[in-house]
Amino acid sequence: MQANDYIDDLFSYIDRSPTPYHAVANSAALLRDHGFRHLREADTWGILAPGAYYLTRNDASLIAFTLSHSPQTGMPLRMAGAHTDSPGLKIKPNPICTRHGCVQMGVAVYGGALLASWFDRPLSIAGRVSWSGDDGTLRCSLIDCQRPVAVIPSLAIHLDREVNDKRSINRQTDLVPLVALSSAAVTPDFHEVLRYELASRHPEAARATLLAFDLFLYDTQPLCRVGLDGEFIMGGRLDNLLSCHAIIRALVQSAMDRNRLVVLNDHEEVGSVSASGAQGPFLQSVLERLYPNTDLRQQVVTDSLLVSVDNAHAVHPNFAAQHDPEHSPQLNGGPVIKTNANQRYATNGLTSALFRRFCDKAGVPCQQFVMRNDLACGSTIGPLTATAIGVPTVDVGVPQLAMHSIRETVGHLDGWYLLQALTAFFAEEDAGFRCPEAVP
Ligand code: ZN
Repeated sequence: MQANDYIDDLFSYIDRSPTPYHAVANSAALLRDHGFRHLREADTWGILAPGAYYLTRNDASLIAFTLSHSPQTGMPLRMAGAHTDSPGLKIKPNPICTRHGCVQMGVAVYGGALLASWFDRPLSIAGRVSWSGDDGTLRCSLIDCQRPVAVIPSLAIHLDREVNDKRSINRQTDLVPLVALSSAAVTPDFHEVLRYELASRHPEAARATLLAFDLFLYDTQPLCRVGLDGEFIMGGRLDNLLSCHAIIRALVQSAMDRNRLVVLNDHEEVGSVSASGAQGPFLQSVLERLYPNTDLRQQVVTDSLLVSVDNAHAVHPNFAAQHDPEHSPQLNGGPVIKTNANQRYATNGLTSALFRRFCDKAGVPCQQFVMRNDLACGSTIGPLTATAIGVPTVDVGVPQLAMHSIRETVGHLDGWYLLQALTAFFAEEDAGFRCPEAVP
C-alpha cells in the first residue's frame, strides 16, 4: 500500500464508521478478508492451533491475534491497542418531544465533546438497534441513516450580543436537535423511523417490534483534504479511528510469522469502566484462555510490549503558549511519544527507546509530548491496560488539532508514518522489542 492509497483507505474506513459498532464491524470484515477466524467468547476454545483469530465484545470492542506457534510455547506478544469511541451526542431512550412548532430529539452528551462544534451541522443517526421479528427472536442490527436528519441551530447573534465574548452551553437545554416541523395531525414516531431504516437493509424487519437502541448523532460531511497542497486531513472521529485503522491495517499486511495481539476498546472517552472498556476484564480473560497456566501467562506478558495508540495534541500556532516549549509536536512531524511523570501515560525510558527504534527502522520521524506542568494531563488506555495485566507499555499517537471537535484536523503524512512504525513493530525480531534489565 502506498501513501495515497493509505489516505483513500483511511477515508473509507472512517466515513463508514460513524459509531464504535460500525468501526468494529468494518475492522472485523477486514480481518475476515485476510483469513482471520471469528471466535465467540461463549464457545469452548481449547488449545488454539497456530493461525489468526478475532473476537468482539458488545459489538463495540475487538481483540485480534495471530499465533505463529502454539501459545503453549510461551512466545512473547507484540501488542497494540486503541479506542473505538469518540465524544458526541447519544440519543436518549424516549427522545421525541414537540415544542413551538418543532419536533426535537433528546440527546445526552457522551464524553468530553467540544460542544460548540456541534451547532449548525447536517447531522445523521447511526448505531445499534435491538428488535424482534414475527417469530419473537431478539435480534441486533446496525443502522446508518446516511442522510442529514437533524440540526442544532445556533441562536442568532442579535438575540445574544455577548455570545462572542462569553458563551456558555447548557447541556440539557441548548443542545436539543430539530428533526422536523410539527403539525397537529402527525407526530413522528421515532420507532417508525428506525423500522424504516432497518427494513431498507433487513426486509424481514418491516413489521419488527423495536425494543431498544444505542444510537449516536454524527456529522454527514465526509473526511476531506484541506490546505494549499492538501496538507491537512479534516473530519470526524480521527481520535481515535485513525489509530484503530492503522493498527488493523498493520496487522493484516504484516507476515503471519510473529505472535501479535491487538485490542480495540470502547468507552475510553467515558473512563473505560465497563465490561468492554480497558478497565474491564476483556483482555485479561482472552489472555487467561490463551495461556491457562499462570506462570506461563506471566512470562509471556512480562516479555511482551504494548504500543497504546491515541492521538496527541499538536501545537496550535494561535495558542502555542498552551504547550511546553520543548515538547510541542507539529503536524506531519511523525508519531508522538507521550510521557507523563505522574503515569497519566504509561511510557517509560525503556519503552520510549523501543518505539524510537521502530520509527528509525521504518524510516519515519517521531516527536515527544509532555503536558505543561500547570495544565491537567489527559490519559489513554495505556496506563489502564499496563495496570491490569502488567505489560510494558508505550503511549504514542499522531499529532492533531481540535481534539474532540466534531471535525478534527491531522497532517496528511502522520497516519502513514504511524502505519509504517506499527508495521516495523509487528515485524521486529523477538530480541528487538523486549525490555532489557538495567545493569548496575
Ligand atoms: Zn483518544
